Amino acid sequence: MKNSDVMIPRTEPLVHAISWQSELANSVTSLKELLEATENHIGHIDPLLVGKLDFPIKVPRPYLSRIQPGNPHDPLLKQVLPLALENMITPGYLTDPLAEAESHVPPGIIHKYQGRVLLVLTGTCAINCRYCFRRHFPYENHQNSMRQWQQTLDYIRQNHSISEIIYSGGDPLANNDSKLAQLTQSIAQIPHVKRLRIHTRLPVVIPQRVTDSLLEWLTATRLQTSVVLHVNHANELDNAVAHSLQRLRQAQICLLNQSVILKGVNDNSQSLITLSERLFEVGVLPYYLHLMDKVQGAAHFDITTHQAQKIVGEMAAQLPGYLVPKLVKEIPGRESKIPLMPAS
Ligand code: SF4
Repeated sequence: MKNSDVMIPRTEPLVHAISWQSELANSVTSLKELLEATENHIGHIDPLLVGKLDFPIKVPRPYLSRIQPGNPHDPLLKQVLPLALENMITPGYLTDPLAEAESHVPPGIIHKYQGRVLLVLTGTCAINCRYCFRRHFPYENHQNSMRQWQQTLDYIRQNHSISEIIYSGGDPLANNDSKLAQLTQSIAQIPHVKRLRIHTRLPVVIPQRVTDSLLEWLTATRLQTSVVLHVNHANELDNAVAHSLQRLRQAQICLLNQSVILKGVNDNSQSLITLSERLFEVGVLPYYLHLMDKVQGAAHFDITTHQAQKIVGEMAAQLPGYLVPKLVKEIPGRESKIPLMPAS
């Protein structure tokens, strides 16, 4: 069956009561608002990063609603709360930990791996995750207008080894659907491209992003399409998210998840087992578990490779193999991610 034959599940009014664009515009962007909304106060929490932030606060309200009020240790809060530790310069942690600045040919394309290219479709995210490896990324140098996309399309056309396109960002789904539909249509006209992969956190942090128009262009393309979500903790997957993911699944989109292992958020086997089980329950396969990329400002989230291997070893002892994500790390210049074996 072609994607275009797929029936698009209709929207339920409850989920679409507020548009995703309104939710995005209504995000919390100040420390004061974030503390008030989560019923925390400054004295509760480790020294906070106050004043002007290099990497601003952005938390959409649907995500905020899943944070336990008054709990400064909430694993969802920790992912978005700026701490003074971010200002500590830690040796070995870099502003461009994956050396991506060297792989842009032309601007807006990251061509690191054989057979696939990553397109930076926007610098905007729906949420600013404090551990993000692109928190210092110079997005302003990689803003492509539609005219510049011709250059990108030419690059893909001329490279017959490229069979997969990855939409990335920022969050590629922060773009509007007509732009995404138009780009996808142009890419699908290039015969050697077979697959489209979309790396996004938007359907999780603002589930209203799974709109009828998104499903329309996703199902209209001849490209085999997968959506790789980014969920680090089971509490991120509430019923509204489950409903949106179900709509993607009904449209026959393959759903995978990648997580980052983060100190204080999910650095124990029980938390990651619960996450894997919840992901499967909502139709998503756990795919990768990343060691955190060593980005300056996020060292306080990092754990050692051996600790991560032990945690995955404990997961493997308690879960069927298909629910144990592959533990990986990225090393700049290597042709693929480096798999790390579980340890006992
Ligand atoms: S959504 Fe992804 S790209 Fe955006 S800040 Fe979070 S980790 Fe970084």
